[in-house]
Amino acid sequence: MKSFTFKSASNSKEAVKLASGRATFLAGGMSLLPAMKLRLAAYSDLINIKKIKGLSGIKVSSKSLKIGATTTHAEVAASREVGKSIPSLSTLAEGIGDPQVRNRGTIGGSIANNDPAADYPSACLALNAIIHTNKRKIPADKFFKGMFDTDLKKGELIESIEFEVPEKSAYSKYPNPASRYAVVGVYVAKLKQEVRVAVTGAANCVFRSKELESAFSSNFSPSAVDNVNISSKGLNSDIHASAEYRAHIIKIMSRKAVSSC
Ligand SMILES: Cc1cc2nc3c(=O)[nH]c(=O)nc-3n(C[C@H](O)[C@H](O)[C@H](O)COP(=O)(O)OP(=O)(O)OC[C@H]3O[C@@H](n4cnc5c(N)ncnc54)[C@H](O)[C@@H]3O)c2cc1C
Repeated sequence: MKSFTFKSASNSKEAVKLASGRATFLAGGMSLLPAMKLRLAAYSDLINIKKIKGLSGIKVSSKSLKIGATTTHAEVAASREVGKSIPSLSTLAEGIGDPQVRNRGTIGGSIANNDPAADYPSACLALNAIIHTNKRKIPADKFFKGMFDTDLKKGELIESIEFEVPEKSAYSKYPNPASRYAVVGVYVAKLKQEVRVAVTGAANCVFRSKELESAFSSNFSPSAVDNVNISSKGLNSDIHASAEYRAHIIKIMSRKAVSSC
């Protein structure tokens, strides 16, 4: 890892000001530090955002659940409010990595990083989330652009993520047994207006499955997937699973998710 200057911000404005040039934000450090250590990324300054009051915490209303960007996975998993309003989010958070990763990693860091196998991006898409930054509100449908790529501009800070409270929802993951990242993860949500199904781990970026959304919109039950054809075109093939196997697992995980709604 090359040398860098460590700076700590006490509010969002200061963090954004410090994040100019070759600087970047540091949240849990669970992805950023390994990337720097492996020399896949290099920055002159790391701006610690974990001390910013107001960037962490959970707020619930009857329609939405808002989670501050630096809230850790362990805090989401343990939250009574989350368990009561969107239990599938608690399940997702408690299935991330291991206790060390859950105690350091943050929801904002996870979605800013947009790892193709990360869990939270699927929750954002399925639960029609709004990403609140220091500048604007970005709908999840526009946020996730590609592999490790998002709509965030240089120096733009995620402040919170606001999820729509669904009528029913569930997340089902086929995890890599070592890292717990998703080989395939499927998040199904029955919202007031529509059914949304988001798939992570299967391609180079999280995506919504129109085929599954259409099937579950007409019949919100496990049998709805029986006649759905999931194409393996564009899906990942690697040492963990072939594209054809991933296409098969998408069906299995979506059936499992709807069964547990
Ligand atoms: C061993 C291991 C296992 C893991 N398993 C899983 C898993 O099963 N599922 C899963 O989903 N994830 C998994 N992760 C990832 C982990 O959960 C973290 O969420 C993820 O590494 C990023 O969060 P962080 O807070 O550590 O962000 P950091 O590493 O600090 O930052 C990541 C990136 O996001 C940027 N950033 C951070 N916060 C903000 C913000 N508020 N606004 C704008 N940009 C920001 C940083 O500048 C950086 O570019 C695993 C990680 C490890 C090391």
